[in-house]
Amino acid sequence: MNAPKLFIVIPCYNEEEALPITAARLTELTDDMIGKGLISDKSRIVLVDDGSKDKTWQVITALHEKDVRFRGVKLAHNAGHMKALWAGMTLSDGECDCLISIDADLQDDVNAMYGMIAAYKDGADVVAGVRSSRKTDSAFKRMTAQGFYKLMKKMGVEMVYDHADYRLLSARALSALLSFGEVNMFLRGMVPMLGFNTATVEYERGVRVAGESKYPLKKMVAFAVDGITSLSVKPIRMITTVGIIAALVGVGLGIEALVKVIGGQDAGQIAQSMSVWFLGGCQLTALGVVGEYIGKIYLETKRRPKFILDTYLKED
Ligand code: UDP
Ligand code: MG
Repeated sequence: MNAPKLFIVIPCYNEEEALPITAARLTELTDDMIGKGLISDKSRIVLVDDGSKDKTWQVITALHEKDVRFRGVKLAHNAGHMKALWAGMTLSDGECDCLISIDADLQDDVNAMYGMIAAYKDGADVVAGVRSSRKTDSAFKRMTAQGFYKLMKKMGVEMVYDHADYRLLSARALSALLSFGEVNMFLRGMVPMLGFNTATVEYERGVRVAGESKYPLKKMVAFAVDGITSLSVKPIRMITTVGIIAALVGVGLGIEALVKVIGGQDAGQIAQSMSVWFLGGCQLTALGVVGEYIGKIYLETKRRPKFILDTYLKED
């Protein structure tokens, strides 16, 4: 195999402080990889400015002028981490043999890229960077992150544990991922849907090299809600379950009332609460059924690919 053309895509939002350090580190790393013949010298680093309000774009422009290895993409407004990454991936599609996405803050160890490239050469189409520990994260971040993975799993979303958006995609995995038509995308949940040969590479997660987190609690909650609602219709099903349970409670109360009436006792009050439970339950169930159809429409509107091709054996 020839040395693969690697594109590294980095979403940047207000990263003027971190970018120069990150760029220097990546220049060093790619120099070393090219020197060792691990990647092609046509490899590129794609910096996506996600509508930053600081001097991020000036930093990117300067990097590009100094070294053609750096490409700059400027989005017209702040589209968000995922969409900025998507933009970088879309623009790289067809030009690279493999692509690695990584954050601008170097919290993810860039040396793990050696392992990713090795796994790619061994035939992996997706290589997920997985944190071996979260020592440097605050206790709060650790707890919320753990709760998030558990919740996602309960909601039926398949995800690699402790894997953020630090991953390698082969050219065909990239094209397959980009064929997903959804606007609300949650990459961590979508990549496992590709089903290609997946490997993992472990690394220690560090602290930000500079600047502060662009994910305050508010964005984290929005991210979690996005993750669940964009991949799962389970919340809708939960309505149906609650409805059926309530209706059953109603039926139980009805039976109790009946027994009392037969026994010659007054069952007026029970009969009343019975109707509340039963009708309420029926309404919730009906809502759930309607929701089930809406869920179908929702998935339909995403226009996802119906299949993803792995190999096609045919004549010539
Ligand atoms: N980011 C982005 N757009 C946003 C928010 C964040 O492109 O609206 C980028 C940010 O520049 C960084 C990555 O997404 O490269 C992850 O953000 P951050 O490191 O702040 O998140 P944390 O590691 O704290 O979860
Ligand atoms: Mg970070």
